[in-house]
Amino acid sequence: MSLLPARRLLLVHAHPDDESINNGVTMAKYAAEGALVTLVTCTLGEEGEVIPAELAHLAPDRDDTLGAHRVGELAAAMAALGVTDHRFLGGAGRYRDSGMMGAPQNDRPHAFWRADLDEAAAHLVAVIREVRPQVLVTYDPNGGYGHPDHIQAHRVAMRGAELAGQADFRPDLGPAYAIEKIYWNCNARSDVEEGFARLTAAGVSFPGIASVDDVPGVVPDAEVTATVNGGPVHTAAKTAAMRAHYTQIAVDGPFFALSNDLGQPLFGREHYLLVHGEAAAGEGGREDDLFAGIDGTAASAASGATGVSEARGDKDGSVRMEEAAE
Ligand SMILES: [Zn+2]
Repeated sequence: MSLLPARRLLLVHAHPDDESINNGVTMAKYAAEGALVTLVTCTLGEEGEVIPAELAHLAPDRDDTLGAHRVGELAAAMAALGVTDHRFLGGAGRYRDSGMMGAPQNDRPHAFWRADLDEAAAHLVAVIREVRPQVLVTYDPNGGYGHPDHIQAHRVAMRGAELAGQADFRPDLGPAYAIEKIYWNCNARSDVEEGFARLTAAGVSFPGIASVDDVPGVVPDAEVTATVNGGPVHTAAKTAAMRAHYTQIAVDGPFFALSNDLGQPLFGREHYLLVHGEAAAGEGGREDDLFAGIDGTAASAASGATGVSEARGDKDGSVRMEEAAE
């Protein structure tokens, strides 16, 4: 029997780097508060484009060693975020990066895009039943921007959550467990527009500037149901994590570029759409805590730079443990 922290967050992503770009602030904040943050990455990102010239030999059309290299980048990023539980779906190398939509790599035997959905989801069911997360974060059905691995990661996450709750599905993987809240990543339009205005004014080093339309999952502000604000400390951790993905991301202050060399803002606030479970919005109608409303987790929502919990009737908050299933 093992002990689990009171609050447990699971994130499902397609490639190393997606977690830091989308959820770096959220992961750093909850890890710092003592929550169990579990990252499941579905591929090694073998088909990514390599930015630094000195590492160009890693590319799939040359040495094809980018996947192994990115395992190390991801480990460094997790150290920056304070996250200790990161895994690859089915084990490292089980599924390969499928490349961009329509690329010949989509049809390779181990491409994640070709994975059998229930087989891939079963790997996630094992994780869900082990760590028993109250909250799951993944992409929207379009994967944010249409990359086949992101679409597949969404499907696997949603199917995994469904199957984990079914007692008759693979009882060998542990007792059924129902995730209380599921969120999809999104970006609030006003934040994105404001970020590009800052970027344009700042005059950064990137050869070009992206546009609002290049940012995945931009939605009208009114559709956003939860916003996690990292503050300077967790935003710095996110920035460090993004820098750790050195082959994929070039960071310049509060801005970054992917391999297209187009600058875009690095966000210290991360936005979510609640698609399963009960919203427990505070003032302004938006949740500021992904665990809001979940029994037994509220008192551990210590915030602020001191890290000191406010006494709210349940003083032991984040150190309170729950007995895990065998
Ligand atoms: Zn990706």
